[in-house]
Amino acid sequence: MIKAVRGMKDILPPETSRWQHIETVARQVFACYGFQEIRLPLLERTELFSRSIGASTDIVEKEMYTFLDRHGESVTLRPEATASVVRAFIENRLDQGAEVKKYFTIGPMFRYERPQKGRYRQFHQINGEALGGEAPEVDAELILLLMDIFARLGLTEIALVINSLGCPLCRPAYLLELTALLARKGRDLCEDCQRRSTSNPLRVFDCKSKVCQEILTQVPTMADHLCDACVQHDERVRELLGRYEVPYRSNPRLVRGLDYYNRTAFEVVTTHLGAQDAVAGGGRYNGLIKELGGPDVPAVGFAIGEERLVALLSQQDEGLALPPLLYVAVLGAAAMDQGFDLVQTLRRRGVAADLDFGQRSLKAQLTMANRRGAAFVLILGDQELTAGEAPLKDMATGAQQVVSLTDLAAICAALQGKGV
Ligand code: AMP
Repeated sequence: MIKAVRGMKDILPPETSRWQHIETVARQVFACYGFQEIRLPLLERTELFSRSIGASTDIVEKEMYTFLDRHGESVTLRPEATASVVRAFIENRLDQGAEVKKYFTIGPMFRYERPQKGRYRQFHQINGEALGGEAPEVDAELILLLMDIFARLGLTEIALVINSLGCPLCRPAYLLELTALLARKGRDLCEDCQRRSTSNPLRVFDCKSKVCQEILTQVPTMADHLCDACVQHDERVRELLGRYEVPYRSNPRLVRGLDYYNRTAFEVVTTHLGAQDAVAGGGRYNGLIKELGGPDVPAVGFAIGEERLVALLSQQDEGLALPPLLYVAVLGAAAMDQGFDLVQTLRRRGVAADLDFGQRSLKAQLTMANRRGAAFVLILGDQELTAGEAPLKDMATGAQQVVSLTDLAAICAALQGKGV
């Protein structure tokens, strides 16, 4: 038996209906906020990611699916979407015009991480990106959009955590101070953090080691070193979140796993998913477009982890209501022919209808209808064909009514009562 590659999973029905629901809701919210869809290749030149995400991040150091194509060019399955959005923005000259360019994209990402619950090697994200806006209102709008998606999905058990990572004016001085402090702690830090403390000092805040965390409680944070402009930006974002009653928590130790963020950084976390507690993350990435050879355009974005969102929603409710199904039980070849015709006609009217092709007993077909969660079963045998009418059984109540086989409207009306 050939099995799926480790860390990659099939998404099967009925779970797929939840995915569709999430994506439909997200698309509706994006449309309300003026975000348009952008679809991007899954494969990009490797340097796009090493130059944007940062050479000394976990993703680039050890998690990328990188290989040489048949021409010897190094290509990588995208580990995240922002770099690709920026590449497309530059390549297609999408910077024309003064308005903020707002895009969303939905699709798979690939990271060679150690698979565990909530962490896969192929996973899916819903990304929102706003390019070309410096104003804190752009950050606020993006976060409000993100939280609207969760609210419309009825997700309650989540918390928004925000921080400011400073800017090229105030961050370098802080990083120098942090590096010096970490150097003094030296040997007490774990091996990873000793390395990070010179290559990428902010990342030490992400360390899971208790000893490092303890040391870090004594270390000043970026929040204490923000310049006036960063403070004002941050305050305005928070003010707007407050105005629309989006609760948030400040975490001055929140850093993101990618190098390109500045100013606003945020995560949406939950206590219901165990170790993998982040459902979404994002932030501002002002320098990235220029860094990748484009114009000096500021930007901000977020990524929702779809697997984790699906897991959270499945914990919260019973499952999604599917459109009510009419199941036609057919007894004999003539009934099969008529049943096929009826089902096909109903489907073309937008009704979910189905039948069994196995020439099975009525009992077996009713069991099948039950398994499929049918709202109604229409029972069709030779007798019914002669009479031109058949019993329509409501599977929830057991009640039966006789309907004319030519009166499709009556059948549709019965289903409508179930919410077609
Ligand atoms: P990041 O780009 O690392 O900030 O990730 C954004 C979101 O994607 C996270 O908050 C997670 O919900 C999700 N995510 C990241 N990595 C994985 C993974 N390996 N498996 C499943 N979801 C992931």
